[in-house]
Amino acid sequence: MDALACAAPALRAKDYKSDIRPVWCPGCGHFAALAALTKAAARLKLRKEDLAVVSGIGCSSRLPAYLDAYGFHGVHGRALAVGAGLKAARPDLTVVVAGGDGDGFSIGGNHFLHACRRNMDMTYIVMDNEVYGMTKGQASPTTRPDWTRGKLTPHGTGMPQLQPAAIALAAGASFIARGFSGDPTAVTELLVDAIEHPGFAFVQMLSPCQTFQPEEKEWKAMVHPWPEGPTDDPAEAARLIQQDDGMALGLIFQRRLPVWYPQSVPRTKLGDIEAEFVV
Ligand code: SF4
Ligand code: MG
Repeated sequence: MDALACAAPALRAKDYKSDIRPVWCPGCGHFAALAALTKAAARLKLRKEDLAVVSGIGCSSRLPAYLDAYGFHGVHGRALAVGAGLKAARPDLTVVVAGGDGDGFSIGGNHFLHACRRNMDMTYIVMDNEVYGMTKGQASPTTRPDWTRGKLTPHGTGMPQLQPAAIALAAGASFIARGFSGDPTAVTELLVDAIEHPGFAFVQMLSPCQTFQPEEKEWKAMVHPWPEGPTDDPAEAARLIQQDDGMALGLIFQRRLPVWYPQSVPRTKLGDIEAEFVV
């Protein structure tokens, strides 16, 4: 049998989807985020056994269950820590970490900072809908200050929104982009670029919550490309990000920086771990 006959057939986007039906609300932006990730995986010809998707807790963090690849549904805010550990132990894997704005920028904010500066070769997708959706609509770090729908913040938060791109830049990220799940073609391209980027790639993906932020239906008319960029100059990126209205889409900053990898990774056997827990 020749080599061609042995070659595995190319995978299509739908081949990366599991049999589990998403429980997201009808019209939730995360459907398109899931579709974009499967399309990016197909474009990159990733083998399912080489792709690992790690998440935290929240509506968007259900994503690994809907994929036919390796997945880990972690604990709240710790997805990046789990993803970093996985990448350290298995550098051959394509590690994608996925979650939401509450998970990633609130309880997980500390991990976000250090993942940016550590620059391990992995991709972080934050499906940002400016709300905690799974716990029924509380303000998150990216919620607008005058948002009064939340029961805990009937007068709004009164606080400025966190600026993820600015924080990622300040913390030393080497790839910073913003996508919109309502533009599946562009966001798929962005994910392909992010996964191919050698280093920590951060993608803030605007992903509307139909249930607790119905105004986000308007995002389709509000998004626009970055007026300038992308750039590899941090000072220029800082200038562009300072002028940002939060709706600019595309890659804004990409720079080749040394990729961090731990010098020594303990190779513990599974049996040794089991032995430690024997009572
Ligand atoms: Fe999506 Fe919002 Fe429903 Fe969660 S609550 S599944 S984010 S629409
Ligand atoms: Mg959210």
